Amino acid sequence: MAERSKAYSIFRYKCPHCHEGEFFVDRNPYHLSTAGDLLEACPVCHRKYTPEPGFYYGGMYVAYALAVALGTSIFVATIVLWPSAPVAAKAGLVCLGIIGLAPWMYAISKTIWANLFMSYKGVAITEKERLRAEQRQSARA
Ligand SMILES: [Zn+2]
Repeated sequence: MAERSKAYSIFRYKCPHCHEGEFFVDRNPYHLSTAGDLLEACPVCHRKYTPEPGFYYGGMYVAYALAVALGTSIFVATIVLWPSAPVAAKAGLVCLGIIGLAPWMYAISKTIWANLFMSYKGVAITEKERLRAEQRQSARA
């Protein structure tokens, strides 16, 4: 996986801005007490992860799409691989798959959502960001 691809940032839980810093407090989504907890800013490039309050509510749409895709895939797989199984068994397998992968899908939905709106900028602060920070400082003074 190329280090500057969005897939790298998404599946390695890396900063969407620099692809080097960690995104979550805990890398393991199955540690349920800290599942989905983001760091406030990237420890490497120091850019914030939350552009506005409630930004990550949109990640639930991604999580929903992932759950539907996973459930459909499991159901089709059971039809192909185990055609004689009762529908209840197929539905049970779908539920087990969705519940079993829910923590992972929750984490990945946040990194996907962040990568939809944040682009790669590298570790060093860009000229545009420097100018914007200067404008903010001069507006305060
Ligand atoms: Zn970063």
